[in-house]
Amino acid sequence: MLLKSCDPNDREGSMKLVEDLTMNANQVQKQILHEILTQNADTEYLRGFLGSGDSFHRELFKKRVPIVNYDDIKPYIERIANGEPSQIISAQPISELLTSSGTSGGQPKLMPSTAEDLDRKTFLYNLLVPVMNQFNVYTSPDETILCPDNQQSMYCQLLCGLIQREEVLRVGAVFASALLRAIKFIEDNWQELCSNIRTGHVSDWITDSICRNAVLNILRQHNPELADLIESECKAKSWEGIIKRLWPRTKYVDVIVTGSMAQYVSTLDFYSGGLPLVSTMYASSECYFGINLNPLSEPSNVSYTLLPNMAYFEFLPVNKKHGEEGERDTCDVSSEMNCSKKEDKEVGEEKGEAVDLIQVEPGHYYELIVTTFSGLYRYRVGDILMVTGFHNNAPQFRFVHRQNVVLSIDTDKTNEDDLLMAVTEAKQLLDPLGFLLTEYTSYADTSSIPGHYVLFWELKSRRGNPDQKLPEMDRNVMEECCYTVEQSLDYVYRRCRSKDKSIGALEIRVVRQGTFDALMDFCVSQGSSVNQYKTPRCVKSGEAIEILDSRVVGRFMTKRIPFWEPYGIDTIS
Ligand code: AMP
Repeated sequence: MLLKSCDPNDREGSMKLVEDLTMNANQVQKQILHEILTQNADTEYLRGFLGSGDSFHRELFKKRVPIVNYDDIKPYIERIANGEPSQIISAQPISELLTSSGTSGGQPKLMPSTAEDLDRKTFLYNLLVPVMNQFNVYTSPDETILCPDNQQSMYCQLLCGLIQREEVLRVGAVFASALLRAIKFIEDNWQELCSNIRTGHVSDWITDSICRNAVLNILRQHNPELADLIESECKAKSWEGIIKRLWPRTKYVDVIVTGSMAQYVSTLDFYSGGLPLVSTMYASSECYFGINLNPLSEPSNVSYTLLPNMAYFEFLPVNKKHGEEGERDTCDVSSEMNCSKKEDKEVGEEKGEAVDLIQVEPGHYYELIVTTFSGLYRYRVGDILMVTGFHNNAPQFRFVHRQNVVLSIDTDKTNEDDLLMAVTEAKQLLDPLGFLLTEYTSYADTSSIPGHYVLFWELKSRRGNPDQKLPEMDRNVMEECCYTVEQSLDYVYRRCRSKDKSIGALEIRVVRQGTFDALMDFCVSQGSSVNQYKTPRCVKSGEAIEILDSRVVGRFMTKRIPFWEPYGIDTIS
């Protein structure tokens, strides 16, 4: 049984476990695949490809079982969701279907999970304790974390965190976007939080009684001195270093700042006063992948070591080296998230054979493929990773980007097709006005919290008069365009907008005619080929945004919130 137990308090033992696993990466991977196949040999899915009998050989598995994406396995997962037995894909009972932030056809992907998966996740979490030399004690009582009302949960957790400020050694959230939302929440609510601490009374709008009682257990008495202290920090003109000022013993900020979250590093640096930002782990609803063995490395240098006992990993080579500027379809040569269609196709064409964990080469790029215990076989996760080195025999990876995602503020992942579909829907509203949408691009504006999507639209009047300003009365139509784009974006986007409030209202900035020509000139000046130039559907470079912004003739946002309703049960992976 490769699922070893890890005692988080036994630093030496845990580190030895990491050494053993990484030293024997190849053997562990072989064993993992053997275990998965033995265990699941009788599932309908595997029998379909392998038959029964002597089918456990790695090469045979690779030859017969196809590499798949979500849409290929969706019918199997939907059957399980509709009550058919787990045996379709997994020998162990599937106890949960986790909703991933990835979507398919606008709906969240459902990822199978078994009771044993929980042990695997615990194993990885436990390994982080000695790596970080940390204590896994939280200031938030479980009841406040589990409170179904987001606002009450956030308020109570922050209140508890402030009351226990002297004990706090690290501040964090899973993703950077969530931590910044918490800081914004304090900015908006510090007077009330201080008043609660001053009087020893929890605000009346905290109506969830279980959550309320848990907070009262911590807020045992009024504490005017503490309230004064917090108030004086929050009253300060600048919030620079507020994390360190509110929680003075904080040693580091525990938050993922790799991948799309890299866009928040400078804001976090500002609020944290330069505390180390530590991205500890790389995980998903499909499977937990690995940990960062050098937690104090700079955000841009973070590498994750995949733990070979989590799943069977394969790697599809992505033939083009990222950052080869002339080959990009986008003009944002520095953007890692800004994956182009062309790149996507190259991955899709699978020019290389999928290789094993120990076969990957430093400096090369790969798409991650997993085979899990809970019923995913050769499943494309959609993440592109670059090999940065090895820890013993286990490769270490930098997270490069999520395939084809162009916009992301929180857990949303909007790709070019999603954006195109949403814009196509919305631009129809321009027809009666006599305007045509001739070009568009986008960027994730994170200058305020929460961040929001910005679309730059270049319009053309059917009747000529290119510089014609949109008449004031058309504001309604433009706002409706904003609403239609949002309404057309996928489930996770709309959940972030409506329920989590982690994304602000989408903005359309209309630019004057000729703006996209100026953008093209800029991209060409940066090395894009004129012949191959295609308008980037997302820009990240400050200069490109500046070119667009300086030509804006109208800004529009909707006041309406897009419709969203829960899809099954949302689970935090
Ligand atoms: P979900 O399935 O919703 O939990 O999302 C998992 C996805 O989040 C992964 O496939 C990655 O694209 C992204 N992700 C998770 N951990 C990290 C990380 N440490 N750095 C960058 N992206 C991450």
